[in-house]
Amino acid sequence: MFEKVLKELERLKEMKQVTIPIHADGEGYIDKECPNGACLFQFKVLEEDWQNIFNSEKVYCPMCRHEANSKSWYTNEQLAEGREKIKGHITNRIHNAIREDAVNFNSRQSRNYFLSLTMNVTGGRKDETILPLASKEEMELKITCQECNSRYAVIGSAFFCPCCGHNSAEETFANAVKKIKAKIDNIPHIKTSLETISKDTAAITCQSLIETSLNDCVVAFQRFNEVLFGRKFPATKVRFNSFQNIEFGAEYWREAIGETFNDWTTEKEIKSLKIFFQRRHLLSHTEGIVDQKYIDSSGDLSYKIGQRVVVKEADVNLCLSIIEKIIQALSNKTQNI
Ligand SMILES: [Zn+2]
Ligand SMILES: [Zn+2]
Repeated sequence: MFEKVLKELERLKEMKQVTIPIHADGEGYIDKECPNGACLFQFKVLEEDWQNIFNSEKVYCPMCRHEANSKSWYTNEQLAEGREKIKGHITNRIHNAIREDAVNFNSRQSRNYFLSLTMNVTGGRKDETILPLASKEEMELKITCQECNSRYAVIGSAFFCPCCGHNSAEETFANAVKKIKAKIDNIPHIKTSLETISKDTAAITCQSLIETSLNDCVVAFQRFNEVLFGRKFPATKVRFNSFQNIEFGAEYWREAIGETFNDWTTEKEIKSLKIFFQRRHLLSHTEGIVDQKYIDSSGDLSYKIGQRVVVKEADVNLCLSIIEKIIQALSNKTQNI
């Protein structure tokens, strides 16, 4: 009576895998997600490059550089939707088998019997084809790796190429600049929104955003210098945190390439930069309270010992524009080394 169903169940038991196609978005990119549970960063990879350039053994997360084989990068949404599609596909196959069994059963019933049985399966034949998974909307930031030329897309920022794991000093710096600008440019909006909750909260949060942005400038500058210097002059040993200090950092470059930061900026700019770096040092180590060491190293006479330094949006913007100028010059000067 249930021959078809039993046969179908037998076939399902032997089924090793079901392929669910994944459609690329309008620009040819497919969705990926970092399998590292602490990260789960979502990004996209150009389908063509995924097939032709990517290594099936090793793919890297653009955010945390987690490594895993190419089968590990399905997004949670793709897996959930895929499971649903498989469930639907199996249900439809069984439904169709039951329906066929019912038709056969009913056709075998003799009309001569006093009692006649009919099997009734509701619904017509169900479609067994598995439709492709759709992609999420396009991501704005498209990146081409300088090392391997693979193309990928992210929202916000990315630090590593998913194909070769390359970390570009330029890319990392560009991401930092973007983050700092986003923080500073949005201060008025953040302030207005938070003021609806509490004026205190709004003031504290915005002040903290400005002060951490100054720290971000120093870290971005330091990181870029360390990576670039290390790449160009691997034989020179650099003392820990040297590029956090303008004078020490400048000296390394002068010795290596014959020119340095103050050759690419005005005297006023380099003086301001030293002050910003020293103020950031205070914010990190003394909660911003001015000490003698600060006055000695920065040459800033606008504060007395015991005062707290003030950092405004304009300071961060100025600091950022000076470090961008230096980084640009460094990239140009070291291009052919
Ligand atoms: Zn990750
Ligand atoms: Zn790459």
